[in-house]
Amino acid sequence: MLRCQKCGREYPNKFRLRCECGGVLDVLFSPFENFYEEIQENYMDIRRYLNFLPISEEFLPGIVLPVTPIVHHRIRGIDVFFKLEYLMPSGSFKDRGTFVTLAKLMEEGIKDVTLDSSGNAALSLSLFGRCEGMNIHIFIPSYTSEGKKKLLRKLGVMLHEIEGDRMLTHRIAEEFQEGTYVSHWYNPFFIEGTKTVAYEVMEQIGEVDYVIAPVGSGSLFVGLFKGFRELRDMLHIRIPRMIAAQAKGYESLCKRSKEKSRLAEGIFIPEPPRLEQMKEILNVTHGVCHSSGDSEIKNALDWLFSHGFLVEPTSAVAFSTFISLLNEEIFQSGERVLIPLTGSGLKLL
Ligand SMILES: [Zn+2]
Repeated sequence: MLRCQKCGREYPNKFRLRCECGGVLDVLFSPFENFYEEIQENYMDIRRYLNFLPISEEFLPGIVLPVTPIVHHRIRGIDVFFKLEYLMPSGSFKDRGTFVTLAKLMEEGIKDVTLDSSGNAALSLSLFGRCEGMNIHIFIPSYTSEGKKKLLRKLGVMLHEIEGDRMLTHRIAEEFQEGTYVSHWYNPFFIEGTKTVAYEVMEQIGEVDYVIAPVGSGSLFVGLFKGFRELRDMLHIRIPRMIAAQAKGYESLCKRSKEKSRLAEGIFIPEPPRLEQMKEILNVTHGVCHSSGDSEIKNALDWLFSHGFLVEPTSAVAFSTFISLLNEEIFQSGERVLIPLTGSGLKLL
């Protein structure tokens, strides 16, 4: 069942982007008595969590997602756990959302789809769609990295480059008449995929005190929170404090800066549809928002590179936020911080 965040109207569990009132939808979840009994232990991949997802085993995409590794560093007394989401098949966490979305589209026999993206979601959908023989229209801003554009062309999608910003790209894609529009800014099934990060973390390292994620549209941030909330309902754990890492000039949760980032292209989304939901998440978890400028992002990226994490600048925004909060002495010694490293730097070549 899907429920509208705004008016509470409910819909059956079919692919649907938004409520008729325009509000965003969420998939309702009924907690299980015993979390560990519901895990399908014969799988060492995303299928471990099929019982927690609104999809059928009959219609799974051909691309199966691995459980991503976690690397631990102790930084000035704080335990930092980097989850290597950039090692996913298309090089970003977006594959999780795409996996669940594709399963739903396949169940309903939908073969023609349209998506707007700042790059990573487009690459993810293009890779999965190619495997399933789908026809895919992709809308991206023309400033998207050449590496991502080259890859998209190689994957054989119909690529529409828009001379304008990310918000304009979204509006044009929304009006496009061909193919089912599957924007991950709204898509409730995308969130179902990203919530599996929390499930994996629970099995890999147990509870954490903080989660720091880059926030543009919030598809990872909202998914992480949903996953941890479901785990709380099943395992009676504490939901970690959620920290939103944004880029200067494009803040939606922090005060908007005059300075504009040029590096964090994945989160140049100043008006995300799930804004109210994200504010509520900050509120209930006593989280905070922090925004980084390009000099901080560059320093964070340098640190990540020198520790073997070959990520893109947008991913470094979360680590840059960690460093700033560390300097502000927000964390207590021995606290555990989860930082998903969201996208691969190899696509920028
Ligand atoms: Zn509604």
